[in-house]
Amino acid sequence: MNLYLAEFRLFGIDVKVHWSFVLVLAFGAFLYGSGPAGWLVGSLYGVLSMLLLFASVTLHEYGHALMARRFSVGTRSILLLPIGGVANLERIPEKPAQELAVVGAGPLVNVIIALVLTPVALLLNGGNPNGLLSMNAVGSNIQSPGLFNLVVFLISTNLLLAIFNLLPAFPLDGGRLLRALLAYVMPYTRATRTAVVVGRLLAVLMAIYGIFSGAIGLLLIAFFVYVGGSAELEAVSNRAVLRQFKASRALTPGAISLYTSERVERVVDLIMSSYQTDFPVRDLSGRFVGVLTRPRLVSALRETGPEARVVDVMQPAADIPLCTPETDLATVWEQMGQSGSRVIAVADQGQVLGIITADDISEVFQVMSAAMDGPDRRPQPPAPTPSDSQETRNYV
Ligand SMILES: [Zn+2]
Repeated sequence: MNLYLAEFRLFGIDVKVHWSFVLVLAFGAFLYGSGPAGWLVGSLYGVLSMLLLFASVTLHEYGHALMARRFSVGTRSILLLPIGGVANLERIPEKPAQELAVVGAGPLVNVIIALVLTPVALLLNGGNPNGLLSMNAVGSNIQSPGLFNLVVFLISTNLLLAIFNLLPAFPLDGGRLLRALLAYVMPYTRATRTAVVVGRLLAVLMAIYGIFSGAIGLLLIAFFVYVGGSAELEAVSNRAVLRQFKASRALTPGAISLYTSERVERVVDLIMSSYQTDFPVRDLSGRFVGVLTRPRLVSALRETGPEARVVDVMQPAADIPLCTPETDLATVWEQMGQSGSRVIAVADQGQVLGIITADDISEVFQVMSAAMDGPDRRPQPPAPTPSDSQETRNYV
């Protein structure tokens, strides 16, 4: 699954090209190779056109990433897939105006590329705008190699990329823009719900059109929009529930701590006699030094046996994210997702009060969303997992 055709770093951001990208190049070679230029020249030209088209997609993603950087939001990676690119941001920008700028920067890059290339095309065509304005000219010339045709191809594909991405449907940029605008006049969750409904309507229309016109690609996109919208709505609703509670709420009072010198054996007894699954570990002076998590306990029992020392198998404190008792649970959840840790330590003025696990948050979530929904509502949603917050950080 995670096989990459190429990986490189540009402007401090890792770009990963998925292996299935080979299919795009093969498609380009096949499409153009069967054209008037003959298979060798045609297929090479096809590969070049696809590479340049995806260079435009990559620049679109850099538009999101570099604008996000202006608001101190990092980008973990840019992934290139045959259906487009994804910029995985570290978090969503806080202010609606910032999100508007980050979202808008992507399509803006494509508009700028088209604007810069237009005089070039005009120059190549001796100042004659004919053949440049009509998209049909591109269609008929698309397979004949030539600098003018290539430039016109890039202008029209970049304009199409901008228009397509601005369709008001999640997870496309247009859906995010609509949500950011609606968020000025209504609560965030409702803005998301409205934007998702608009997107679904559009997806249904796209699917109907796709079926009647035989455009399979459109069906695929309609499906992608439908599923993407639902995932976004779920992530946002879950976050809204969790945002109302502070970390101190999920702390278990009287949780049992272990000492570094103890052996795993004791933990087995503790698990049998309590509901606790993860144990903070302290040294003799009471300082927090790590957590013995359930997965680590299980692997220690399997590999070394009950005589394994707690200090040798625990997750060290350096690998555990920290929050304060005042941090809201949505932020805690996001911190856990980002660090890949199933526990977080709650510290007040340098002193660790206790730990919160993914299970603790699921518990708060399930109880509170049931309490808020009342007795006669739909069945409860499943508890989220820390990776659920992923969806909202992926900009296409
Ligand atoms: Zn975009």
